[in-house]
Amino acid sequence: MKADEPLKSLIKEIGHFIGGKHVSGGSGRFGDVFNPTEGRVTARVALASKIDAEAAIANAQAAFPDWSNTSPLTRARVMFRFKELIEKNMEELALMISSEHGKVLSDAKGSIQRGLEVVEFACGIPHLLKGEFSDSVSAGMDVFSMRQALGVCAGITPFNFPAMVPMWMFPMAIACGNTFVLKPSEKDPSCPMRLAELLLEAGAPPGVLNVLNGDKEAVDTLLTSQQVKAVSFVGSTPIARYVFATASLNGKRVQSMGGAKNHMIVMPDADIDSATEALMGAAYGSAGERCMSISVAVPVGERTGNQLIEAMAPRVRALKIGSSVDSASEMGPLVTQVHRDKVKGYVDLGVKEGASLVVDGRGYRQQDKPNGFFLGGSLFDNVNRDMRIYKEEIFGPVLSVLRARNFEEAIALPNEHEFGNGVAIFTRDGDVARNFAQKVQCGMVGINVPIPVPLSFHSFGGWKNSMFGDMNQHGPEGVRFYTRVKTVTARWREGVAPKADFGMPLSR
Ligand code: NAD
Repeated sequence: MKADEPLKSLIKEIGHFIGGKHVSGGSGRFGDVFNPTEGRVTARVALASKIDAEAAIANAQAAFPDWSNTSPLTRARVMFRFKELIEKNMEELALMISSEHGKVLSDAKGSIQRGLEVVEFACGIPHLLKGEFSDSVSAGMDVFSMRQALGVCAGITPFNFPAMVPMWMFPMAIACGNTFVLKPSEKDPSCPMRLAELLLEAGAPPGVLNVLNGDKEAVDTLLTSQQVKAVSFVGSTPIARYVFATASLNGKRVQSMGGAKNHMIVMPDADIDSATEALMGAAYGSAGERCMSISVAVPVGERTGNQLIEAMAPRVRALKIGSSVDSASEMGPLVTQVHRDKVKGYVDLGVKEGASLVVDGRGYRQQDKPNGFFLGGSLFDNVNRDMRIYKEEIFGPVLSVLRARNFEEAIALPNEHEFGNGVAIFTRDGDVARNFAQKVQCGMVGINVPIPVPLSFHSFGGWKNSMFGDMNQHGPEGVRFYTRVKTVTARWREGVAPKADFGMPLSR
């Protein structure tokens, strides 16, 4: 027996969940799934072939006629049971996320909770699907509209929220009467697979939710299949752009969310302690691997800048970094070694570009987990808008401080940046805050709130290169995205039939 054979036997295999069953797929291709705290492979995930993907689509297609014919109340009841099952299994789901993603358990639970809130919103589907009715628009004539399901919908999701982002999508789609193929990130597939099992247990018939693991081959099959009617994507901007273009070209409705560079403006009148606390969580929570993380702080005025750096630096140095499943950890490892090295490379680049590295996280070592993908928090001061560390998304525990002389200079930064996902301002001045909310060119704005992720009954989406398409995730926009409107004009009139009319039909 070779030295690594006992370890190999601990590596589980993750296939697909198609037609209500676990299947291994036929591609013969696999991806490694890591435990980032330990820095070792814990699973092999199947990477679907075109044939596997077509089987998932065919199962979703076969389930569509019956599912779309169930009453909205029946579908809502499935959602109610699904909600209960997620709550019952919360610990297990959170552990799956922490073990494959590396975010700490409290954060993993919080992200499931935010996904669960979309399920709760979907429980109101009978009300949400109600159409409009106009009585007596003409003699004996009424008009009404209804929202109907589209058919098979697909979701393609990123590694950083393996529960929440899929739950932005499939509960809304399925509650609306569609069937779904979810292609989660190949980096942390266990939680999405478990969610599909739970939805089946909640009463969704086999084929209503299918999970297809894989990479580009699986995605391309979904984007080009004639049976898939809508595609929801969340991930990095280059892939978001590609998904939007390819799926649109293939006649699908598409919403495609991309990357981000979120600014937090700190006005001179802001409470520095509150701003510091907010920045610590928003920049270093989940090791900065959130599309709504704050990666740029913009203090306005020399004094605010100095105060902020003075308050932040010791806090960043003292970050409690450790195992993702240790309740004392504030920040866990990054998702993979490749990603850790990429983020570290951006810190090297910032130094080369001339930014002042106030806290250097590159040398951080986790003594008890020497193989884990850990990186300390880094803090840059005196960053400017020409530097690549400012222009590009880093997606790690690195905060850049760009100092601005006044409000106009500060708001110009998010407004002229290629991304426009989230943004925040910290101030005590209502006029400034209102002016900021009116004028800033981003989709989600926080006023004294660092991470303004809209609640499930509102809709989530950025602007500019953070979002391609025009209907956002969940909330009222989610219902619109997963349905199409049909308008019926009906005449029921006693007596003689109306005479032939060769003119334009008009209301009488
Ligand atoms: P990614 O773009 O690498 O992957 C996202 C999905 O696309 C995965 O399922 C992946 O398998 C698939 N994919 C990757 N390469 C592909 C290709 N060439 N062709 C087809 N499909 C491909 O993103 P990631 O690294 O998993 O996630 C991090 C990114 O997601 C960050 O840029 C982050 O800002 C972004 N994100 C955005 C939001 C938002 O709402 N705007 C939310 C979360 C994450």
